Amino acid sequence: MTFNDLGLTTELLRAVSDQGYSQPTPIQAKAIPAVLEGGDILAGAQTGTGKTAGFTLPLLQRLNTGQPTRGQRPVRALVLTPTRELAAQVGESVNSYGKYLPLRSTIIFGGVSIRPQINALRNGVDILVATPGRLLDHVSQKTLDLSKVEILVLDEADRMLDMGFIRDIRKVLALLPKQRQNLLFSATFSREIKQLADGLLNAPTLIEVARRNTAAESVAQTIHPVDKSRKRALLSHLISSKNWQQVLVFTRTKHGANRLAGQLAKDGINSAAIHGNKSQGARTKALADFKKGAVRVLVATDIAARGLDIDQLPQVVNFELPNVSEDYVHRIGRTGRAGREGEAVSLVSIDEQKLLRDIEKLLKRQLPKVVVDGYTPDPNKVAEPVQKKSAHPAGNKAKHNRNHSRGKNKPNGNRSGSNQRHRSSEN
Ligand code: AMP
Repeated sequence: MTFNDLGLTTELLRAVSDQGYSQPTPIQAKAIPAVLEGGDILAGAQTGTGKTAGFTLPLLQRLNTGQPTRGQRPVRALVLTPTRELAAQVGESVNSYGKYLPLRSTIIFGGVSIRPQINALRNGVDILVATPGRLLDHVSQKTLDLSKVEILVLDEADRMLDMGFIRDIRKVLALLPKQRQNLLFSATFSREIKQLADGLLNAPTLIEVARRNTAAESVAQTIHPVDKSRKRALLSHLISSKNWQQVLVFTRTKHGANRLAGQLAKDGINSAAIHGNKSQGARTKALADFKKGAVRVLVATDIAARGLDIDQLPQVVNFELPNVSEDYVHRIGRTGRAGREGEAVSLVSIDEQKLLRDIEKLLKRQLPKVVVDGYTPDPNKVAEPVQKKSAHPAGNKAKHNRNHSRGKNKPNGNRSGSNQRHRSSEN
């Protein structure tokens, strides 16, 4: 499969070739023809899959071949993103992929002066990339008209919901014309995402792909069986004895992340926590400190880690196994990238045996178990339930064939349930 097979025009193919891309990624191969056909899309894809080009290229083509508008240029495509960083990134992609087309785009997000944004809108833009809050500021100041939008993209929709944007999204939806194309991208499918998709999408094409460069096969993975109460001591021991300098540690809860970072600091190991209760600024700072080596251990929840650029780490530790097996793959995918050596270690207590079995089922292999001297689990310990609040344990996505488009089905039906992430667990 090449980009030439996807139905893109020469201007777009030239821009793609300028980027140096030789082959479409799986999501691009599926999304580009589907978007060009004009239908709605529900796509399960993480950052790193090439999803941005997957929606940007066909979106540009549809706008370019659509009805030319006379007079003032109305906004015809709206891309909503959860963060300003992502808005900037998508905006850049729109610019580079659209460089041979006569279309205009602009980016709108909060935290910066609104004036230049008003000027850009006044000059007319075809494609608007925006975060929801600032977008609504423009609407209330009457500096933006969304009544001519033909294509709506919700990028990283799950993150937008995690960040509390659902009401803003609904307000934006109410301002759009009923007749339009909708593209929804989300890394996960919680009940909230399915509800949003059900109300928004019309007979969508469902597309799911695994993360690009999945490291599951190449990363050295080890399970250390250990009692829950001794995990922290074992982690400190491993960090010191193996002289790990940059470790990303995953916990299941925000509270657990804070507590562990504090305990490690008491052990003399410089640590920071990132999770959903921390502002974007605090997360970015923790990440920057971690990258430059000022912080040796970054403790994160799955939700906080998603979307942050923390790839290519030497060491990932699962302090607790994730509730959703596929998150294990995403977590360890943070290490061993681009041919580097990577190691993923999981500290597994007796309570987590079921989660471990689910992960091994997903990976289709057993992971090596190594008991660390001095940390042998107490054989008399009885397993306690990992989750107290949720009704059923983690969905095991191994049951889904994640590399296949599921045709034009509604997103509810047999997708629900097993794909569902338990947000309530990040407490
Ligand atoms: P995204 O998932 O959209 O954030 O893209 C992840 C990265 O993959 C970006 O740095 C893109 O420039 C790159 N990328 C996108 N499509 C391709 C492709 N077909 N071949 C190689 N790299 C790509």
